[in-house]
Amino acid sequence: MISVEEAITRMLAEVKVLEAARVPLSETAGMILSEDIVAQENIPPFDNSAMDGFALQSKDSRQRDGQPTRLRVTGGVAAGYVAEREVEEGTAMRIMTGAPVPHGADSVIQIELTRNAGPDSDWVEILQEVAVGNNIRSAGDDMQRGQTVMTRGTEIGPWEIGILATLGVAAVPVIRQARIAILGTGDEIVDIDQPLQPGKIRNSNSYLLEAAVRNAGAKAHRLGVARDTAESLREKFAETASYDLILTSGGVSVGDFDLVKDIMAEQGQVDFWRINMRPGKPVAFGHIGGVPLLGLPGNPVSSAVTFQLFGRPILRKLQGHSRLFKPQIGVELADGFAEKVMRRHYVRARVEWKDDRFVARTTGNQGSHVMTSLLHANALVIVPEGGVEIRPGDRVKAMMLDWPEGEEME
Ligand code: AMP
Ligand code: MG
Repeated sequence: MISVEEAITRMLAEVKVLEAARVPLSETAGMILSEDIVAQENIPPFDNSAMDGFALQSKDSRQRDGQPTRLRVTGGVAAGYVAEREVEEGTAMRIMTGAPVPHGADSVIQIELTRNAGPDSDWVEILQEVAVGNNIRSAGDDMQRGQTVMTRGTEIGPWEIGILATLGVAAVPVIRQARIAILGTGDEIVDIDQPLQPGKIRNSNSYLLEAAVRNAGAKAHRLGVARDTAESLREKFAETASYDLILTSGGVSVGDFDLVKDIMAEQGQVDFWRINMRPGKPVAFGHIGGVPLLGLPGNPVSSAVTFQLFGRPILRKLQGHSRLFKPQIGVELADGFAEKVMRRHYVRARVEWKDDRFVARTTGNQGSHVMTSLLHANALVIVPEGGVEIRPGDRVKAMMLDWPEGEEME
């Protein structure tokens, strides 16, 4: 039996970052850049107005004899167009936000600081002096041609997507999405739209795992449920060769019909299959036909929790992330935890910020068949190995499932 830390370290050592691909920009949220992004143009591409107003020569804005200067308006320029003439001394042009500054003009005065006879007026009075460059957004202010704007390894979110769009990167170089095969096992498992016959239960694991895989940014493919026979398992594993990871649930314990490890050994390798934790001691890792296989326990809560601890970091590594682990913080456990468990215990809990500190409360019956203990849980309280009793008010560590991943395991 190995520790959680040793298990995760050994698993991560076996999986390699996937290849790069070009992916349409709008599909890249959550993905990792595989190359630096270098601006091919200045952004903004041209000097443009930051305001609706008038483009002019700043020296014409100076008052004469205490009177505002009056300039002749020679035309206008809207966003998306280029002025047809230059701005000469003694003249101004109407200009809208985002429009290119006409040649000859060196400043823009906002409309509120001018007076004229209306939108078609051929004159304008300048009510305030403006400096050279006033209200002009210069070409290259934001990004300059040749500048490295983002480095490889960056996680793409909405802000990065906005910048990539600005730069015209329609197909983005990223680490490709992982493709995950999800396989249920067990003669008792029926699909969710089937009536329950005596002795049967519904396949919750495959659906829970499918959602959790998608949540980690990967593509999930449910391959159905293998019966508890070597033939049925072999048949299902014959379909898994093209995937980046196989996720199974059930069939990895020590029962007569727990055959997943046998088929792994027959068609690949079992690296290890017991981890010193609860829920979920039986977690097998190895490969089948060269495809890494993470064999999760059958009990729904165990399968959910072990996916969080092992499956999710593996998927993140495959997809190029450097931040693999949920952050752990110190919390006060309001209700304590009396049950003595010799293995490392991950207790489902709700952590909230209350009176200037993080307070955790367990979510009830922690049996690994009690799926409702997952509801409202946003954290796993970590009770160390060795049967430690936690009294109400004690400080413990909690892994924050609803916080983004950080660099370190602890
Ligand atoms: P096993 O490890 O195969 O002995 O499964 C442990 C427990 O998890 C048993 O009670 C199974 O019925 C249950 N189980 C296994 N697979 C699933 C599944 N896909 N959905 C829900 N429960 C399952
Ligand atoms: Mg089973």
